[in-house]
Amino acid sequence: MTNHKIIVAIDGHSSCGKSTIAKAVAARFGYAFIDSGAMYRAVTLFALRHQLISEGTVNEQMLIGFLPEIQIEFRYNPEKQKSDTYLNGENVEDEIRQLPVSQNVSPVATIAEVRAAMVRLQQEMGKNKGIVMDGRDIGTVVFPKAELKLFVTASAEIRAQRRFDELTAKGEPVSYAEILQNVQERDRIDSTREASPLRKADDALILDNSNMTREEQLVWVIGKVEESLKFHVPDSK
Ligand code: C5P
Repeated sequence: MTNHKIIVAIDGHSSCGKSTIAKAVAARFGYAFIDSGAMYRAVTLFALRHQLISEGTVNEQMLIGFLPEIQIEFRYNPEKQKSDTYLNGENVEDEIRQLPVSQNVSPVATIAEVRAAMVRLQQEMGKNKGIVMDGRDIGTVVFPKAELKLFVTASAEIRAQRRFDELTAKGEPVSYAEILQNVQERDRIDSTREASPLRKADDALILDNSNMTREEQLVWVIGKVEESLKFHVPDSK
């Protein structure tokens, strides 16, 4: 077993299981796992609570003005064996996964100043490596020199079905059609926005998990991390 650590950047479309893979890989290698989408979701929740979003339109200037007051952190929850997202000291992990946030997060994430603030925080979290981060711009903008970059995707219908199953299992009253529409709309906004659009980094490996089980994906990704660790052995001096 090697002691040196790498950065694993996992990007891809909405709801294709990036966080699940990232979490499992991080646990396997004893790395930190950061769900960067949770940070954009927390900013969106803040904006919703402060009435800075009305019918899908974000009051950008006011939100930018509030940015210094938005503090986001992850704290480990030993009961759930995972980190929860905190917004200004409050655990917002459940609330940021609900539909009002999902429906408004992509417009918030198009704002360049919001992205700059989140990227700064994310780079700080990864400065000692040993991190698995998932998002949309991790391999292209946040860690362009990450040793391993993955681009995860699956068909929109399969992704919507997975999200639907996840939310109904939690007892949320949701409709499949609404979720599919949300997934497609987020893909569209994420891929066409001006600031850091979602795109595969040239050196990222593609993982299309439409027809793969969670276990198959994990085996594949762990293999890639192990190869990367062997390849990126630091100088012995
Ligand atoms: O990953 P998740 O679907 O929770 O992310 C929520 C939203 O945050 C995405 O739809 C995208 O608009 C935005 N996002 C982003 N850049 C990231 C992570 C998420 O723009 N690195």
